[in-house]
Amino acid sequence: MPELPEVETTLRGITPHLCGKGIDRLVVRERRLRWPVPADTERQVRGQRILALGRRGKYLLLELEQGTILVHLGMSGSLRVLASHSPPAKHDHLDLYLQGGQCLRLRDPRRFGAFLWTPEEPKNHPLLAHLGPEPLGPDFDGDYLYERTHGRRCAVKPFIMDASLVVGVGNIYANESLFRAGIHPTRPCHRIGRTRYWRLAAAIRAVLTSAIEQGGTSLREFVRDDGRPGYFARSLQIYGRTGEPCPGCGAPIRHHRIRQRSSFYCPRCQK
Ligand SMILES: [Zn+2]
Repeated sequence: MPELPEVETTLRGITPHLCGKGIDRLVVRERRLRWPVPADTERQVRGQRILALGRRGKYLLLELEQGTILVHLGMSGSLRVLASHSPPAKHDHLDLYLQGGQCLRLRDPRRFGAFLWTPEEPKNHPLLAHLGPEPLGPDFDGDYLYERTHGRRCAVKPFIMDASLVVGVGNIYANESLFRAGIHPTRPCHRIGRTRYWRLAAAIRAVLTSAIEQGGTSLREFVRDDGRPGYFARSLQIYGRTGEPCPGCGAPIRHHRIRQRSSFYCPRCQK
């Protein structure tokens, strides 16, 4: 599943090709994505210029002269910039044709993605309005996490994976961050002190930043904007390593499911 680093990598990959370009037309071959592509989308975006690109959580934002296109990659989506005449393959559900001979193509075999034009301010859109702060932005730190534990009793791992608390901490990155911070994934979130939350916030930032620098840690389906597969797993210290020695102390790494999600931890280093 594309996670925040993959979305950020995609954003950085496509921005130079799209920013400032006019849209010739939109061609939708398959409307049945997670939310169907509305029938008037082609008309809304035609002839508009792309003024800026951005990201909020795992949504890519294409700011147009009128309104904004929200793109979500769902479970298996990818975006590429190609020559307009490149023939579409199976699962290539839509093309945004740009002036100058290129197109932005969305491939999404499992069709959990989204491509929606909205006239609203994106931050007020129902899909974005409830999202917590960006983990790499200025509003996220140890005090923020610590203060949000009041009245909550859940384990720390689902706590930090809640997008209304903070966006973009997917399962892989939650595991890695908790390992780096020395915090056991099942520890109740209200039984962790402020200092440890500062360590955890720093770990989340470090893990995400390093994944972005590597071009996104990812699963097999992910394809970079240039068509090459994303990097996988080499830098992950704990995720997927059941039974291997902990890089900190050598104890075998354990696996445990927490709320249906695979959790990996060192029983000695994480308390
Ligand atoms: Zn250990």
